[in-house]
Amino acid sequence: MAKFAINLKEGKLQAPKSDVIIGIDLGTTNSLVAYIKDGEAVAVKGKNGKSTLVPSIVHFDENGGTIVGDIAREKLLSEPENTIYSVKRLMGKSYKDVQNVEQYFGYKIIDEDTESLVKIRVFDRFYTPIELSAEILKELKERIEIELDSVVSKAVITVPAYFNDAQRQATRDAGKLAGLDVLRIVNEPTAASLAYGINLDKNNGQTIAVYDLGGGTFDISILSIQDGIFEVLSTNGDTFLGGDDFDRVIIDFWQNAYFQNNDTFTQKNQKLRIKAEEAKKHIGKHESYESELDGIQLQLTSTQFQALSKELVARTLKSCQQALTDAKLSIQDIDHIVLVGGSTRMPVVKDAVRDFFQKEVHDKLNPDEVVALGAAIQADILAGNQKDILLLDITPLSLGIETVGGLMDTIIPRNSKVPIRVGRQYTTSVDGQKNLKIAVYQGERDLVEHNRKLGEFILRDIPPMPAGIPKIEIQFLLNADGILTVRAKELRSNVSQSVEMRPTYGITEEEMAKMLIDSIQNAEGDMKVRGLLEARNEANNILHSADKFLEQHASILSEVEKINTQKLVEALRIATAGEDKDYINKAMDELNTYTAPLAHRAMDATIGAAMRGKKV
Ligand code: AMP
Repeated sequence: MAKFAINLKEGKLQAPKSDVIIGIDLGTTNSLVAYIKDGEAVAVKGKNGKSTLVPSIVHFDENGGTIVGDIAREKLLSEPENTIYSVKRLMGKSYKDVQNVEQYFGYKIIDEDTESLVKIRVFDRFYTPIELSAEILKELKERIEIELDSVVSKAVITVPAYFNDAQRQATRDAGKLAGLDVLRIVNEPTAASLAYGINLDKNNGQTIAVYDLGGGTFDISILSIQDGIFEVLSTNGDTFLGGDDFDRVIIDFWQNAYFQNNDTFTQKNQKLRIKAEEAKKHIGKHESYESELDGIQLQLTSTQFQALSKELVARTLKSCQQALTDAKLSIQDIDHIVLVGGSTRMPVVKDAVRDFFQKEVHDKLNPDEVVALGAAIQADILAGNQKDILLLDITPLSLGIETVGGLMDTIIPRNSKVPIRVGRQYTTSVDGQKNLKIAVYQGERDLVEHNRKLGEFILRDIPPMPAGIPKIEIQFLLNADGILTVRAKELRSNVSQSVEMRPTYGITEEEMAKMLIDSIQNAEGDMKVRGLLEARNEANNILHSADKFLEQHASILSEVEKINTQKLVEALRIATAGEDKDYINKAMDELNTYTAPLAHRAMDATIGAAMRGKKV
């Protein structure tokens, strides 16, 4: 029975704090939370006691209230514009990155051709993928707090092995915003291997293939584990291949067989889609499936399904072969094969993987839960409960630099393994800028003023160029002795400068702990300020471009277009002076939408002029 404490100041009952570190699988389709209960990793079920899976879907009402999970999923069809799914696909991505996949989303991703991070518009509010993921994490946090009857604050979160720094940082930020101290970001295939205890044979190195076929994505990762240290040797896959495609081939098949020329029975018909998924699952255990829809008999035999799914399975195996080639390994080098994702329950998939690797597969655990279970095991290792497993040296606080508006841009996140080297590119914000100040900070807060300053230096003599053109690489190298070398180099001119500093010098364990707690307690406020400053920076860039555009292309614009553009520019200028980020985003959105066709016309005119001037 848990004890409750009373907060004397507020006179409220307070649930006791738990030392448990939780493991979270923050998935594209579903998310789960797990922990170690009586020595065993278990995934936590919801209030209804039904499923351990929480659909990674966030539904918003008009006032900005949220619902996450099963109930949100029910709104997917009726309110697609304010029901957000697959947000993981957007984590750490810029508008440019997602341009080609936008048609897959039923909601509004702001339409812009820039390097800034994507935002999603719901009613009149703008949300980052970090904020949306935080909603899912809050739901999972609440779920386990009910289970444990106590407050949890520490977590391990998994990400795909191919996630880059920005995507990992976004995941950490989401954790922080949900009130969680993210002790470690772990690769999903590593977690899956941990769940099967593959790390335990310490004498020998092992090579593992993790085959992960979910609802909408496929990943194959080749890992090696040596002396307790996992390393990703290669990854491959297809971000748009999964269980849904197996449903689709069944629908195609039925369409040809029964519904030819019938417009109702298309891929969009939800009832037909549900039948197809049902058939797919049924065929795994039986020879044939029979059902009926609106008076028409539906049939599918396992032999038929095998033929239908052959090409899809072959595509996954081709990725496996590529991953092996990239890791410079052959099939014989693989010691273990781990299956992850609901779609690996299909016998056609299991058999094909077994045949390809010529080895038995690990499939005893629930393939939907295996990543979360592994995350819980990793969390338990971090809690010091599994003493015989090696932990690498890690850096206790994040290291980064100050960017426009006083924002902290983390370059080495806390808990990174050392030694580590990370480089990131920046540019100037003023035309002809010759010097750039690089101020280095340590800490978890979003504004540098709340973090600890380690030092600063100036990169001088950058050749004069328009704003945005110089390519300045800032590289952080933290060596095993804890010495940080920061180097800045303008890549077009090779001008460079570097300094050394010692981040842990003069800071106590208590101070570090305090910095961490502060960051979690202030996460929400910090996020708001960051959102506002980022929106302002972006707006200032757009205002700068808009002024230039009006000046250079006045000749191709009609009077009405000029006046309208100027009005929208003015509205954006006013919004930017204010404090409401959604208002700024909205004004940016409106200006962009209005000027996009004008910019196209300007481009055509410029190209036309260039062509006319050219001798053929
Ligand atoms: P879920 O495991 O419910 O997240 O679903 C992920 C994907 O796995 C979906 O495409 C499901 O249709 C698929 N899936 C789940 N269970 C089975 C099963 N028993 N047989 C075939 N596919 C399945």
